[in-house]
Amino acid sequence: GSTIGILGGGQLGRMLGVAAAQLGYRTHVLAPDRESVAAQTASVTTRADYHNRIVLADFAAACDVVTYEFENVAVAPVEWLAERVPVHPHPRALAVAQERAAEKRFVEGLGGRPAPWAPVDSLADLEAALARIGYPAILKTSRFGYDGKGQAVIRDAGGVAAAWEAIGGPAVVEGFIAFEHEFSILMARGQDGAVALYDAPLNVHREAILRTSTVPAPAAVLAQVDAASELARRIMAELDYVGVLACEFFVGADGPVFNEMAPRVHNSGHWTIEGAETSQFENHVRAICGLPLGSTALTGTGATMRNLIGDDDGLAALGDPGAHLHLYGKATARPGRKMGHVTMVGRG
Ligand code: ATP
Ligand code: MG
Ligand code: MG
Repeated sequence: GSTIGILGGGQLGRMLGVAAAQLGYRTHVLAPDRESVAAQTASVTTRADYHNRIVLADFAAACDVVTYEFENVAVAPVEWLAERVPVHPHPRALAVAQERAAEKRFVEGLGGRPAPWAPVDSLADLEAALARIGYPAILKTSRFGYDGKGQAVIRDAGGVAAAWEAIGGPAVVEGFIAFEHEFSILMARGQDGAVALYDAPLNVHREAILRTSTVPAPAAVLAQVDAASELARRIMAELDYVGVLACEFFVGADGPVFNEMAPRVHNSGHWTIEGAETSQFENHVRAICGLPLGSTALTGTGATMRNLIGDDDGLAALGDPGAHLHLYGKATARPGRKMGHVTMVGRG
């Protein structure tokens, strides 16, 4: 069978490995740590030094197609790989998604609407931007942020210096959107350009970490799904995208407000493993391997996914025989660390 190369060693790679195995593919994980949780479901693991050309050349030779489960892989080695083996999604998706200012400009160019924002490289930039954007605002580091790490809320002028001290530049500052609901668009695109859209989940965050994703979402979200998914379609077409793309939105007063995108499978799509006919992981594998996409229809009346964070082992959830428990095999629990998730599928 063919071998799928996966850059990154987290739980997304682990679940991609399970889906790939079911379709008869082998997976070769390239991750900084040989003991990664993705290594546990991979056929082969190589310890990544993404800048070591010998390691990369061996990896390219061993794989029939390469994908990534982590958007902070450096772009240059991925471009180098793409000259030797097909890489999906296109490395340009990685370049756009890993730099917040580039991402917002790209999306604005396609007619999308982020919160009012400005790039900031100095405290003076930040003060000038806040004079226009107002308070409250959020300062976000340009690169490498996740789960709200590298962000600071600025409530008033008294908080500006401390936020700059904590985050520094390069960063973006954006207006705080007082939203009622947050949702995501999960879409797969095949090599033939066919797209498959999942039901849009309502996402609830606490301390900037995703806690639950629920489908179907409430009416206020459903009213903005067409506009949001139209933007996702334009993003995919522009990037000649192959695979699953996730776009995060806030429900705005006059249409969806774009937050950020992830050029990969996404935490808010984990409910699709049991809640949709074809999971996001399987559809990502199908797309990058040139197979037809599978149905995204709900298997029941809806689904809720709850993340297991910190020391929540999820075992209590098994008191309900309908609960689907997924544990990621991480050795040590830390506050704020995603250890697994539990999905309940609604049966009307
Ligand atoms: P991840 O990549 O893990 O989703 P991240 O660190 O890239 O997270 P964001 O998605 O930018 O962070 O923000 C995390 C959460 O913080 C959002 O899902 C939202 O709940 C809140 N948030 C972010 N930006 C804004 C904003 N402009 N207005 C209001 N809330 C926001
Ligand atoms: Mg993010
Ligand atoms: Mg986010």
